[in-house]
Amino acid sequence: NKFEKLGLSEELLKSINELGFEKPTPIQENIIPVILEGYDVIGQAQTGTGKTLAFSSILLTNLKERKKKPQAYILSPTRELTMQIHEELKKLGKYSSLRFACVYGGSGIEKQIKSIKKGVDIVVGTPGRMMDLMRRKVLQLDEVSYVVLDEADEMLNMGFVEDIETIISKTNPEHTTMLFSATMPEGIKKIAKNYMKPDYKHIQ
Ligand code: AMP
Repeated sequence: NKFEKLGLSEELLKSINELGFEKPTPIQENIIPVILEGYDVIGQAQTGTGKTLAFSSILLTNLKERKKKPQAYILSPTRELTMQIHEELKKLGKYSSLRFACVYGGSGIEKQIKSIKKGVDIVVGTPGRMMDLMRRKVLQLDEVSYVVLDEADEMLNMGFVEDIETIISKTNPEHTTMLFSATMPEGIKKIAKNYMKPDYKHIQ
């Protein structure tokens, strides 16, 4: 099992095995070791390449225990993708003690507020709803150590660039960033330049 050579946690390897994944996809094989070394990365990858498992594996391996405030967040452009990521995270995190929450617009905010107030380690959300929860002081990002921007080009197309910039600027500056995008327009390069460590790795 080639997953075992990637440096992932035992609990995670157990759930990967139970889910029936036999070997890492190329993006998983290329990205996981680089992030575990501490680099920021841009993963240029389409949907279907296994990018969700790639970033989820990093979070589930490197975040060891529960904390009072979120330790990571994943921004995604749509409610559907947000829910999908949350589902995959729950499956992969079956043997982890970490708590996950899913927040998106077009749905009652009260339930989401409750789930965050109970304590959450990894938040998956759309930028608009994340902003709303930050404004209400429900969501605090000063202890975040991992930021994932999924389908970043789609988020830019949907006009989320200012929200993304505001969210990142309110995040603990000591964090690792994983940015996933199918394409590399100027807007993405600008985000990388302004908000990622200068020695970030670009992986295709
Ligand atoms: P994604 O690119 O993250 O949307 O993943 C596409 C699909 O591939 C999802 O249904 C995953 O559950 C599945 N998948 C992820 N990694 C692997 C793997 N190493 N082997 C087989 N299937 C995988």
